[in-house]
Amino acid sequence: MADKSLIRTRFAPSPTGFVHIGNFRTALFSHLWARHNGGTSILRIEDTDQNRKVEGAIEYLLRVMKQMGVEFDEGFYLKDDGTTGERGDFGPYLQSQRLALYQKFADQLISQKQAYYCFCSEERLNDLRKEQVALKKPPMYDRHCYNLSEEQKQKLMDEFKASGKNPVIRFFIPEGQTVVKDLIYGHITYENRVLDDQVIIKSDGFPTYHLAVVVDDHHMQITHVIRGEEWIPSTPKHILIYKALGWEPTLFAHLPLILNPDKSKLSKRQGDVATEDYLKKGYLPQVLVNFVAMLGWNPKTEQEIFSMDDLVKQFDLSKVNKSGAVFDLNKLDWISSQYIRLIPDKELADLLVPYWKQNGINTDKSKIEYLTSIAGLEKERLKKLSEIGERTGYFFAAPDYNPDLLVWKKSDKEKTRRALERLSELLKTEENFSQGNLEIVIKKFIAENNFDNGSVLWPLRVALTGQEKSPGPFEVCATLALGPGKEEILMRLNRAIQKLS
Ligand code: GLU
Repeated sequence: MADKSLIRTRFAPSPTGFVHIGNFRTALFSHLWARHNGGTSILRIEDTDQNRKVEGAIEYLLRVMKQMGVEFDEGFYLKDDGTTGERGDFGPYLQSQRLALYQKFADQLISQKQAYYCFCSEERLNDLRKEQVALKKPPMYDRHCYNLSEEQKQKLMDEFKASGKNPVIRFFIPEGQTVVKDLIYGHITYENRVLDDQVIIKSDGFPTYHLAVVVDDHHMQITHVIRGEEWIPSTPKHILIYKALGWEPTLFAHLPLILNPDKSKLSKRQGDVATEDYLKKGYLPQVLVNFVAMLGWNPKTEQEIFSMDDLVKQFDLSKVNKSGAVFDLNKLDWISSQYIRLIPDKELADLLVPYWKQNGINTDKSKIEYLTSIAGLEKERLKKLSEIGERTGYFFAAPDYNPDLLVWKKSDKEKTRRALERLSELLKTEENFSQGNLEIVIKKFIAENNFDNGSVLWPLRVALTGQEKSPGPFEVCATLALGPGKEEILMRLNRAIQKLS
């Protein structure tokens, strides 16, 4: 393809009401490939299965996509008022509004004898299937209706019409072989005899996926169909429909499976599979985008952190692997921590507020400089935003803890109590609670009193945090001073002294 700006990709989800992480990858790769080439990415909604329709699913999908920073150039989009709209010259972009088009091509296939009506009852099809399974044959339609005489067909058609029913339409798979030329998986040859005569129009007048996808990809001038590898077995069927209609098939790029670390297929049973679940857990959208981009794509360099712009520049279908991509949560955490540490403290504090709330911590009364300071203390340690509540509860309420925790390993209860009493005296008269000053004053105090660092700093830190592990005592103390203040610090020291008495 010489003119890359002609590249048109589409993401074609069914409106199921959630965005599987694998579907998000499909959306991202389709979008990136279009953007990388200066082409057009399209969002089309495939709602041919009316039983699976979910109210509000399109808005929902668009909101998730927008949050993730993936906005398509054409097709469905989210308007400023939160409702959905369609844009582009190839609409409607909702399959249920394109029924006449599918019917037209189904009729054309019938007149070319490349499709036929099928009147078989559910019961007959079930029996046939059972028989074939018993004989260890692949279940396939036996062309019973294809082989009826013209008279028999007419009679059945009249009967169907009289009772207000419609026969389904099946595609007639011709003899021979079909080669799928996939940009990622290479050439895959199928013997046509293993392909079933697919239903292409159902009795409710709706097309099945197979017909609709071909008609739409052709009419929307899609150049690259990018989708999960589970659609590979459908592709020869699609290619045969393209050929029967005299159309040039699109290019195909199937994306590798996403696997759990134990190499099983990523499934709900082993963890979350919805993109939204990860957002709720406090992974930033750009972190998820970065992580998902690497599920199957490998830039073949050392780089692991990619902004959306980097991805647009570097994404290349020829660097997508065909082997399964492992969904490694440790990797996700690592990428996440890399992003979090780069966020300015104040901005991070704002991002953390909803997660504090999620943990029952009300930050409404806390000054932003206090929250900013806490964010700064934690940012090198956070793997995801939702961890903030459990890590920083002590900044919002005096902690409870076992008194034994106050005693440093080389000290004892009595020494600890004495150290804290003296320290408390010192801090009562101190006015400057900046971290730098605290460090000077307290270190001097330790030296003058011949204490070990540990026997003072450990209990000070525990008295303030109640935690075995936390940021250091000077930092915590200086931060607390910005929030609840010196009174609270002294109160916590007193509580610790009482616990030791
Ligand atoms: N509607 C299909 C899905 O839900 C789209 C498959 C395709 O991209 O062709 O995944």
